[in-house]
Amino acid sequence: MMPTRNTTWIATIALVSVLGCRNARPLPVDPLPVAQAPDPTTDHAVQLAHMGADAVLWQHASAEYHRIAQQGYELARLRLAENLRVTDARPSAVIVDIDETVLDNSPYQLEAVAQGKPFDQATWLEWTTKASAKATPGALEFLKYADEQGCIIFYITNRDVRERAATLKNLQDLGFPDADVDHLLLMEGTSDKTERRARVASDHRIVLLVGDQLRDFDERFKDRTVDHGRPLVDTMTDTLSRYFVLLPNPMYGTYRDAVQGKGTDAEKLARMKAWFEQGH
Ligand SMILES: [Mg+2]
Repeated sequence: MMPTRNTTWIATIALVSVLGCRNARPLPVDPLPVAQAPDPTTDHAVQLAHMGADAVLWQHASAEYHRIAQQGYELARLRLAENLRVTDARPSAVIVDIDETVLDNSPYQLEAVAQGKPFDQATWLEWTTKASAKATPGALEFLKYADEQGCIIFYITNRDVRERAATLKNLQDLGFPDADVDHLLLMEGTSDKTERRARVASDHRIVLLVGDQLRDFDERFKDRTVDHGRPLVDTMTDTLSRYFVLLPNPMYGTYRDAVQGKGTDAEKLARMKAWFEQGH
């Protein structure tokens, strides 16, 4: 078929367009990233930090965490009321831990994952110095209730003396009762809280403890060599049930320390990977 006048023009325009495109200056294109050899030290840290991502996401962004923390403090209120029915001449004391018990540090942990940097004392200190942590859901309401019931609140924490002023400011700004120097027992040399609990018990009746680690109740829970410490929980359920309320903390703690151990990031990462590979 002979081309018509119209089809000839269309073909001509198409040819000019193609030639025109060939002669046009190419659009700028971002260069492909050049692969660089990973820095082993940084890479270990990044991998280790990213292993905590789901835990941080859950605590920082789930209504489930929010509700479970509230539930914990609802239980604390019930247990406190039960325990206060028993009269005692000594003043009643409630002992609470601070981190992930009355203060939520998930913003710090979130930053650690985003930056690919595992926990570090220097960055932790920067965070606590801001005194900007929010209260754990339910904590403030519970401790105000305990205060109204005549209990004295003691904060036993493994924050250290450098963090004293900012920690008190954070607690006071949020309105926590008994947030003063006399009721804040910081870490002095050991993370074992046994002696500090005994100091409170020397002239108070401890009616309830609240923490995010079983060690906030009894140092024996540091030992995770037998079935991750679960048998000891089972032998102590009566006491735990009556005197201790445990809050969730998926982000860090004895459970993770028991697997990753101490040492360099590379060593911790190797132990974590080995644990997963063993298919526990
Ligand atoms: Mg804690």
